[in-house]
Amino acid sequence: METALVNTAYLVAASLFILGLKQMGRPRTAVRGNLMGALGMAIAVVATLVGIWRREEPLGYIIFGTIIGVAVGAVLANRIQMTAMPQLVALFNGFGGGASVFVAGADLIQSTGRVPDPQTQLAVLIATALSGVIGAVTFWGSLVAFGKLQEISWMKKPFHVPAQQLVNASLAAFMVLLAVFMVMSGSPLMYVVLVIVASVLGLCLVNPIGGADMPVVIALLNSYSGLAAAATGFVIDNNVLIVAGSLVGASGVILTNLMCKAMNRSLFNVLFGVMEAGSSGDDVDDIYANVRSTSAEEVAMILETAERVVFVPGYGMAVAQAQHAVRNLGLMLEEKGASIEYAIHPVAGRMPGHMNVLLAEADVDYEQLKEMDVINPTLETVDVAIVIGANDVVNPVARTDPKSPIAGMPIIDIDKARTVVVIKRSLSPGFAGIPNPLFAMENTLMLFGDGQQAVLDIVTALKES
Ligand code: NDP
Repeated sequence: METALVNTAYLVAASLFILGLKQMGRPRTAVRGNLMGALGMAIAVVATLVGIWRREEPLGYIIFGTIIGVAVGAVLANRIQMTAMPQLVALFNGFGGGASVFVAGADLIQSTGRVPDPQTQLAVLIATALSGVIGAVTFWGSLVAFGKLQEISWMKKPFHVPAQQLVNASLAAFMVLLAVFMVMSGSPLMYVVLVIVASVLGLCLVNPIGGADMPVVIALLNSYSGLAAAATGFVIDNNVLIVAGSLVGASGVILTNLMCKAMNRSLFNVLFGVMEAGSSGDDVDDIYANVRSTSAEEVAMILETAERVVFVPGYGMAVAQAQHAVRNLGLMLEEKGASIEYAIHPVAGRMPGHMNVLLAEADVDYEQLKEMDVINPTLETVDVAIVIGANDVVNPVARTDPKSPIAGMPIIDIDKARTVVVIKRSLSPGFAGIPNPLFAMENTLMLFGDGQQAVLDIVTALKES
């Protein structure tokens, strides 16, 4: 009876996860979807605690752990800057993987000496090995991803490991061998060795990946954390963990695939095609020889007569928190009769959907947000394009230089607009670490300064004109 009640609660929770995911597919219903997912998780946690209590198993450690987890989670979620959200996601993925390692390991230690039927035991041991391997790879891989996204200086560039791919392949082969031994022996010690080798592999796998490929890695690690959780669900026979883990695993794979397409790279190439940030050999001074800088007043004058204006937001808009100022400038130009659109690149910013979230927060009409593929063929008729804090996603070398680290990545072809105004603080490169010839093109004007302040200055100049 109690098991039936707990399983019914799990079913409700799983249904809420699925409905929540569906609602998150549209910006208008996304907040509701998020709440549904959180409610589903709350139901799952309470049902699990009730199940443990009814079995008269000790609850003290779990409640202690929950209180610590809730406290850390609440502080992090409240304090975190919007710009640091991807790092936080990377950490969350990692913690999910780490938790799977510990839960599966604890179950293995506890079950030593128990004699269940051999078939169940084999299935559980295989699931334990998978939890340990995927969880450890996810934990350490996510920590490296966190370090790279946080731009921790000694982690930005990959450590040089001679014959990295050979090392990775050997580690993977050794890990499979260890997993077989662990399943055959059921030995906790073997599990620990397996987890250590998987941890080294996790570090080695993410170490060489850098530059513009980070978003794909985050999506993939997210998927791994789900798979580890699902495997752990099999180990401890918890249905909701299996369902939730599978949902995360599957959606992570779908997202990984979408991100690969957005960057025109195969997953194999991302994972094994060692790519270093900033490996372009061109001389920066030559590229930027003809850069022309402008002022807010000059930009306001150009905008006065513009009929079609397109904003291209990037990571710098998030740093400057300029989304509200950008929206106000857009409204002002609309009042003057211009049509306003926002060109959204799928990997602009530091996480999938970063720009959509920021602009939605500033109440920008969703109809004005145009995806790259939709807006690109129409850019020649744009009077003024305002690139705000975007760099890699508008870098024409992706089209023109097959040796560039971002070669082949689809970009917003904003250089085709009649006039391009680029707002950024300097000529520093973006995440991929390469110069951008757009800044020196004939139709480009650079407005140097903080994104928010520059847009506010344009608004003031427009008011005064
Ligand atoms: P970039 O990182 O290429 O460029 C951002 C630019 O913003 C910088 O050149 C910087 O120039 C400028 N900037 C920073 N702060 C400010 C500020 N306060 N005011 C004005 N400008 C500012 O960003 P993009 O969005 O164009 O490209 C995203 C890159 O990040 C891609 O390479 C992508 O692959 C990668 N990435 C994307 C993820 C995703 O999921 N979307 C995740 C991880 C990485 P300056 O310092 O001169 O001001």
